[in-house]
Parts: sequence; structure tokens; C-alpha cells
Amino acid sequence: MSLQDIQNSIRNVPDFPKPGIQFKDITTAVKQPKILKEILETIAAQFKSQKIDYVVGIESRGFIFGTALAYLLGCGFVPVRKPGKLPADVISQEYALEYGTDKIEMHKDALHTGDRVLVVDDLLATGGTAAAAAKLINQTGAEIIAFAFVIELADLGGRQLLEDYAKVCSLVKY
Ligand code: AMP
Repeated sequence: MSLQDIQNSIRNVPDFPKPGIQFKDITTAVKQPKILKEILETIAAQFKSQKIDYVVGIESRGFIFGTALAYLLGCGFVPVRKPGKLPADVISQEYALEYGTDKIEMHKDALHTGDRVLVVDDLLATGGTAAAAAKLINQTGAEIIAFAFVIELADLGGRQLLEDYAKVCSLVKY
């Protein structure tokens, strides 16, 4: 099993959700037991010795990998969600999209000063979503140890944006 096998398992869907976007579909990867195991164990191995307290997963594909990684790391899982989904008091962060803005939320009491956090999503593009998650986490006083992504679209500059907050790890680069 190699990184090439993981890359080959990710389906490219042209023009989804709109013309010009090359959508990286991870459903074809995670339905294969050996690929799923390899993705999770390869990422977990990089953070096993880092004393992570919480994986923060970004809705929704960050939940697929994030909870499994939290299990492998023996730590807790905290969801960052789209507006109006979390039931208790939240903190919110807006971020810019190509056209307009979007918002993500996290429970106010989810993290505390000194907590060591790994932020997880399926894919890093411009980094806007993960940077918004980082701003939420920073409000709580928790420490971001790293960001982990299965896929990185390297030309979009997300890594440069996120490195202001913490180090960035990705498995497969396009
Ligand atoms: P960004 O905030 O630009 O880094 O975008 C990252 C978020 O958008 C992640 O939650 C991804 O799941 C999703 N995303 C952006 N571009 C793509 C793409 N080409 N294929 C699949 N998902 C994408």
C-alpha cells in the first residue's frame, strides 16, 4: 500500500458542484477497508507521541476522518459545524468564500486553555475553512498542535495561510 494507492482511490468529479471545480470525492477511498485503514493509521502515526487532547473535525467530511483519528489517538472529538446545528451556546466565525461569506460554529465550552488540539478535514483548498476553525480554537485558549488533511490542493495557497497558526500535514497532494 502506497500513497499512490490512496491517490488512485480518490475519484475526481469534474464540474461538481459547479462548472470548473474538480471535486475530490473521498467516498471511493473510504469504502475500501485497506485504504481507509492506511489513511487513518498513517495520519495517526504522525501524532501518536504529541499528546493530543482533542481532534477538532470540520463538518462534514472532517467528521469521517476526525472521529476515527481521535479513537486511534486515544483522545476526544470536538465538532466544528455549520450554523444552527449545535444545540448549546456557541462561538461563531465568519470566513470569506469566492462569492460572499460563510460561518462555522463550535460549542463555547468545548475546549479550554492548555488543551492540545489537532484540526482535521478531508481536503485543504484555500485554507479559509480551517483558518476560521483555528480562530475559534484560539478564542478558547487551546493550543493548535497541527492541521491534518487527507488531500491538499497545493496551488491554492492554503498551507501558507494555515502555517501562521500551526504546522500543516497532508497525505496526498495535487
Ligand atoms: P477551503 O476552505 O478553500 O480550504 O476549502 C476546504 C473545504 O471545502 C473542505 O471542507 C473541503 O471538503 C471542501 N472542498 C474545497 N474544494 C474541494 C474540492 N475540489 N473537492 C472536494 N472538496 C473540496
